[in-house]
Amino acid sequence: MAAQIIDGKAVAEKIQQRLKREVEEMAAAGRTPHLVAVIATENRGAHIYASNQQRSCEEIGIKYTLSELPADATEEQLIENIAKLSADPDVTGIIIQMPLPPGCDGRKLQMMIAPEKDVEGVTPANQGGVVYAAQPYYRKPAEGGDGCDTWLEDSLNWPLPAPAPCTPIGAIMLLRSLNIDLYGMKAVMVGHSEIVGKPTALLLMAHFCTTTVCHIATKDLAAHTREADILMAGAGKAGLITGDMIKPGAIVIDIGINRVTDIGPDGKPVLNKKGKPKKKTVGDVDFESAKEVAGYITPVPGGVGPMTVAMLLRNTVEAAKISNQ
Ligand code: NAD
Repeated sequence: MAAQIIDGKAVAEKIQQRLKREVEEMAAAGRTPHLVAVIATENRGAHIYASNQQRSCEEIGIKYTLSELPADATEEQLIENIAKLSADPDVTGIIIQMPLPPGCDGRKLQMMIAPEKDVEGVTPANQGGVVYAAQPYYRKPAEGGDGCDTWLEDSLNWPLPAPAPCTPIGAIMLLRSLNIDLYGMKAVMVGHSEIVGKPTALLLMAHFCTTTVCHIATKDLAAHTREADILMAGAGKAGLITGDMIKPGAIVIDIGINRVTDIGPDGKPVLNKKGKPKKKTVGDVDFESAKEVAGYITPVPGGVGPMTVAMLLRNTVEAAKISNQ
């Protein structure tokens, strides 16, 4: 039987509606969250990304400002700018847009952000906070209902340290939206990066999942993934996980985002209007074969991606609560 598709867009929308109401209440009390994006590039993609971010923020009432530096800004100038924003009481959240000018160390700059304003949850303090993630309280789906409101209420009240890394908490929220008791399940996280794999694995443990982390040096990946009741893929390798590597009925959350050439039914690249091969976005999971085996599966796009945006907004609201205390 084909898997149930987990609609990340719909779940993200529900969260954003909740956040919107919260921001309205904050604004009424004169405490509107204010996110500042530091940008030092002329890269068109980065500016499109920032304007999408601005739209998402403004849709729920968050004030969004660009702090622009020249594309040849030095690391010292960026450090000075971040220090100024970190100390500014009017600014409740800070995000650094990539790419940065040559010679600037993005990771080093991110670490300069005051942890309470770090809305991506990437500073060591906020990454570390995930280690202490409280063990959540579970409820099974309400009889006859879709359980959605139960999980939403539960998840947003979940005493998770805030801000926390966006993609891991987004992936976990998606898992929780299924309203399935995760206690004792076997989870496999493919990928062990600081930003995706490691924090996601910690959050799975916070849910009492018996968690295995696989990575580039893992021998016989399929032997691990076939055991997983919950399979999380975050390796950045298109088609890494195929249907035969999935346990029947498993929950599959695909975090990967990969741009690949679109191949038509004739086995040849699909061409765009200019006669060039078209690109499309896929995850790490081969969706077509996986959906025939899995019980639940996220699509790419439309799965974890929208949840990452929703969690950036959630972190921005939480950061404003801390800054405004
Ligand atoms: P990364 O390159 O830092 O880490 C990749 C991880 O995958 C490493 O731990 C590596 O050991 C592992 N890996 C690579 N090849 C493997 C293989 N063949 N078998 C097993 N493990 C393997 O990447 P990242 O920043 O963690 O991102 C991972 C993916 O998640 C990327 O596709 C990225 O675009 C995507 N991503 C998505 C979102 C989102 O919003 N959905 C956000 C961030 C990252």
